[in-house]
Amino acid sequence: MQVDVALLVQKYGGSSVATSERIRAVAERIHDSIQHGDRVAVVVSAMGDTTDELITAARRLSSRPRLREMDFLLSTGELVSAALLSMALHELGDDAVALSGPQAGIRTNGHYGRARITEIAPTRIRGELRGGCVPVMAGFQGLGPDGDIVTLARGTSDTSAVALGVALGVDRCEIYTDVEGVFTADPRIVPSARKLDVVIYDEMLEMAKLGARVMHPRAVEIAEHFGLPVVVRSSFSDAPGTQIVAESAVPIETMQRVRAIAHDLDVARVTVRGVSDRPGLAHALFQPLADRQINIDVILQNASDGGVTDVSFTVAETDLDTTLELIRPVAAEVGARDVAAATDLGKISIVGVGIQSTPGIAARMFGALSSAGINIQSITTSEIRLTCLVAAPDVARAAQRLHDEFDLESPS
Ligand code: ASP
Ligand code: MG
Repeated sequence: MQVDVALLVQKYGGSSVATSERIRAVAERIHDSIQHGDRVAVVVSAMGDTTDELITAARRLSSRPRLREMDFLLSTGELVSAALLSMALHELGDDAVALSGPQAGIRTNGHYGRARITEIAPTRIRGELRGGCVPVMAGFQGLGPDGDIVTLARGTSDTSAVALGVALGVDRCEIYTDVEGVFTADPRIVPSARKLDVVIYDEMLEMAKLGARVMHPRAVEIAEHFGLPVVVRSSFSDAPGTQIVAESAVPIETMQRVRAIAHDLDVARVTVRGVSDRPGLAHALFQPLADRQINIDVILQNASDGGVTDVSFTVAETDLDTTLELIRPVAAEVGARDVAAATDLGKISIVGVGIQSTPGIAARMFGALSSAGINIQSITTSEIRLTCLVAAPDVARAAQRLHDEFDLESPS
């Protein structure tokens, strides 16, 4: 019998390594893969809520900790997990070596707190794998050009794992988390949500951007770009999880229909009121935000009335303070009347490859929301999603209603 052995990256998220018992269980899972004949490089996140706790510890001592020391501090969370998991593997008789991002050859552009990986030199990791050893790499970190340790952005151990997988040319990257895979909606607000066996990269990317927390959007982008097969699965069960694949790998019937509902409550709307409508206005307003890497989403400019208009857009609520700091002086410069902010909003989206080109889907979405008495404040679309901005208290009901409307409970 031909045994199907593979070269793998396995990434274990914070909840999967939250306690000693869980670290032991993860070690056993890795041990089983090795027994099966697979060669495995492991990437880990910090234990449980460690990263949040480290941030809190820093804030207790400093109201504005320097970014360099903050990264130095936050990088320790993943180092702890890597060391402990290696020890647990040793106990099972496996050879394992814990590596920091810099030791593993992860090079970055050095932007503290949001560095981007520029290159991976996996010589060390390759050598360890060749010698039958399991490299256990700390996720979420790398080396800056000046030799400092930097972190990549919250939630980016996924990115470390996918990038490492690409550099090693692995057969597949397995992302282990505390849910069984990617669902048709967040099961916490839509109890009838169903696990999807297969999701297309672009759908996953939209879902990740819209706040489905199973995978970081950057990780999905890299996987798609390099065609790296990814599996999202639970470290608490043996269920097969969700495969993330290219569009060409799924039957055509899977497409052109709504595949999932995404929601996001981390939304704030900023409105620049009473500004004179002239060329260059949007550029003047949005360039400073782009410079600070703040993502703006739903943009709405009202039809101007006597040459005066309102421009509103949404940002993540976590970016609101910085956004207002940047936008107020620009608004004053272009002669706007004032700037208003609202945070009692949420986004509800339907996602599916090809839905924009499928007639009737938008009308069904609006119809379903209206029959539930939910007011739509604004709408945006992309090739594969339709997003409505609604009042925050309506979000859960909207998700349930749309899940029913598009019959996502029954397998496609
Ligand atoms: N520990 C980091 C965070 O909490 C990175 C990660 O878990 O992916 O953001
Ligand atoms: Mg994560």
